[in-house]
Amino acid sequence: MNFATNKTDIQEFTGPRLRAWLAVRGFRSFHADQVLRWVYRRQCDDFAVMTDLSKPLRGLLADHFCIRRLTVDRVATATDGTRKFLFGLADGQQVETVLIPERGHHTLCISTQVGCAQGCRFCMTARGGLVRNLTCGEIIAQVRDVAALAAAEGLKLTNVVLMGMGEPLANYRAVVDALSVITDADCGAGFSARRVTLSTVGLVPHLADLAADTRVNLAVSLNAADDETRSALMPVNRRYPLETLMAACRAYPLAPRRRITFEYILIAGVNDRPGDARRLVALLHGIRAKVNLIPFNEHPGCDFRRPAQAVVDAFQRQLLDAGQTAVVRYSKGADIAAACGQLRGGRCPGAAP
Ligand code: SF4
Repeated sequence: MNFATNKTDIQEFTGPRLRAWLAVRGFRSFHADQVLRWVYRRQCDDFAVMTDLSKPLRGLLADHFCIRRLTVDRVATATDGTRKFLFGLADGQQVETVLIPERGHHTLCISTQVGCAQGCRFCMTARGGLVRNLTCGEIIAQVRDVAALAAAEGLKLTNVVLMGMGEPLANYRAVVDALSVITDADCGAGFSARRVTLSTVGLVPHLADLAADTRVNLAVSLNAADDETRSALMPVNRRYPLETLMAACRAYPLAPRRRITFEYILIAGVNDRPGDARRLVALLHGIRAKVNLIPFNEHPGCDFRRPAQAVVDAFQRQLLDAGQTAVVRYSKGADIAAACGQLRGGRCPGAAP
């Protein structure tokens, strides 16, 4: 609902929902497709200019819906070109979205909740707890609005990662609905599912549903290879310990040539020792996996430290020598607090898997 107009943002309606809504009012399903193409492919904000729709249909849509843009409350640009948007929502809440330049393209890191309930100790978002879930439309709008800006600037926005504020699987329905629009090549935002990645702390009961409901990439925020360390870093591990989580990952149906990405934030003296690397290799045995090693981004009020470069290199070498794919991801946007773990929000590692 748009609080200013009492109308529903049309981005809250997925294709099937809009088709059903129009069908009971006597319109055909291709009419819904036309509307959605105007909204997502042509970035149109006004039903009146949707000239291939009949006047009665345009009137009906304008009576019930609005096409909302998020308010840009602030934009910060880092020295490496990373841009962090602070978006205002209709009820006055705010979320952060990060546009990250990569070699030859851009990646957008979006939020799925205002705040987060998961309490990961390395993450700034955790400090304020969960305020509320984002709606489907608010998740999509981050993509649609930045895509418009990217197009205006001639930027190639190809990848989307759900690694900003919030735990996506804790807001399951809205996230899956939003993904269906973001990856709809015909009527939606048109991102390839291969270039969209959902990152989770591992809410195990939702993993099987996720594989059935979407075809986007899965990333698991792992960060430790033993239960004691992981539970100390991530309270979720007490509910779903490593054995349960890894069993769910093993059972996760992967398409050919796809892998699960395991994110591992390296924290000095906590999870960066040779024994940790050894346990990590053993834990991932038999899973089509790729490890993203993310040296910790230090932030005020957090005692964790980033390991020395030699330690990071040695950890990666140990994984590679054991035959495990592992890359080191250096977060971008650290000087504007847009890097992994620095969002008021989030843990965006600065690159898609
Ligand atoms: S790392 Fe992710 S899941 Fe954990 S508290 Fe931060 S936003 Fe939530």
